[in-house]
Amino acid sequence: MQAQSPLLTSSPPRAWAEVNLEKLRKNHAFACSYGDTMAVLKAGAYGHGIIHIAQVLESLPTDERPTFFGVASVIEARKLTEAGILTRIYLLSPSCAFEREEIVSRRWTPCISSLSEAQDFNRLVGKSHAQPLPIHITVDTGMGRGGFLPDDLLDKIEALESLPHVILEGIGSHLPSADEDESFTLKQFDQFTALVKKLGVDRFRYKHLANSAGTLGYQGHYNNLYRPGLMLYGISPIPDYQKLLSPVLSLKSRVCLVRKLPVGHGVSYGRETILDQPTMVATIGIGYGDGYPRALSMKGAEVLISGQRCPLLGRVTMDQIMVDVSALDHCAEGDEVELFGANILITEIAQLAETIPWAILTGITPRVKRVYIEADNC
Ligand SMILES: *Cc1c(COP(=O)(O)O)cnc(C)c1O
Repeated sequence: MQAQSPLLTSSPPRAWAEVNLEKLRKNHAFACSYGDTMAVLKAGAYGHGIIHIAQVLESLPTDERPTFFGVASVIEARKLTEAGILTRIYLLSPSCAFEREEIVSRRWTPCISSLSEAQDFNRLVGKSHAQPLPIHITVDTGMGRGGFLPDDLLDKIEALESLPHVILEGIGSHLPSADEDESFTLKQFDQFTALVKKLGVDRFRYKHLANSAGTLGYQGHYNNLYRPGLMLYGISPIPDYQKLLSPVLSLKSRVCLVRKLPVGHGVSYGRETILDQPTMVATIGIGYGDGYPRALSMKGAEVLISGQRCPLLGRVTMDQIMVDVSALDHCAEGDEVELFGANILITEIAQLAETIPWAILTGITPRVKRVYIEADNC
């Protein structure tokens, strides 16, 4: 029986993240129902493992594949290219001058925030005698992180277009509060649409400004490329749409020890929890050193053991947490524990920890083994 489980073929990990690839494909298919996608794979595919996730999405049938993979930096782009990924790679943040030669030689697609950045790419492509490089223009419609201001772009567009070694293939913008401020976001969509019309709709092959919240919550707006990140991993930034998605990653660990502790006994650092009755306390092999947020300490967080929620006791330590398993009929060393995932939504955990799902996912540390499974019943 042990030999059948991929987790038990060698000494099993104490903490692991199960990544369900069928759910990833399902979420991507849903994103595709809106239009062409740039699957956002930055930060190690939000902690899911960048190469594995890229390979799965690249091996989808041709018409269901992402058009681009979006990454944050050249380090991530290089990882994908060196792993043999052929899908076009788009750099979501402005390039630094010292990265541009590599971008040109690898033919990654940069987003451009200034005329001088475009001129520098133009010069480097010309110098290397390569084909003109497709680039995308970024417009700042409110994010304040990069891009041309709309009026600035109108002034510079002719100069940009006259550069012989770059091709203006796309135009994009970013939404700072699509999950928080609908009226501002609607204004951004309107401003973007008006700008694209003014510049000429046919000037750009790709027009894109929607992240996950912009894709899910703002249908019917003019846009022909979507940039889903969080929703690919099955988490909706807008709670109403959660039912349409399936969480891909479940963070798991095991019970390492179960003991009965007496009334008055303290649990964990600082002894913030003092037991007011005899309690069955299970010690679980995961802590903030694995990315389980320390901020969950004393906030009423729960974990799942044998299908039942059990409350966290005391503070989260680096390598272990303690939970009250008194309500379980049976709890033994080796029992599997879900910290969040398919049953306990990461959004709930993020709220308790006063953070966001993106930060928790990207905070899962390297010692947590990523275990890829094809389907639910594996
Ligand atoms: C990270 C990022 C996205 C994806 O955002 P989600 O909210 O995770 O969908 C899209 N566009 C840009 C420019 C980004 O930086």
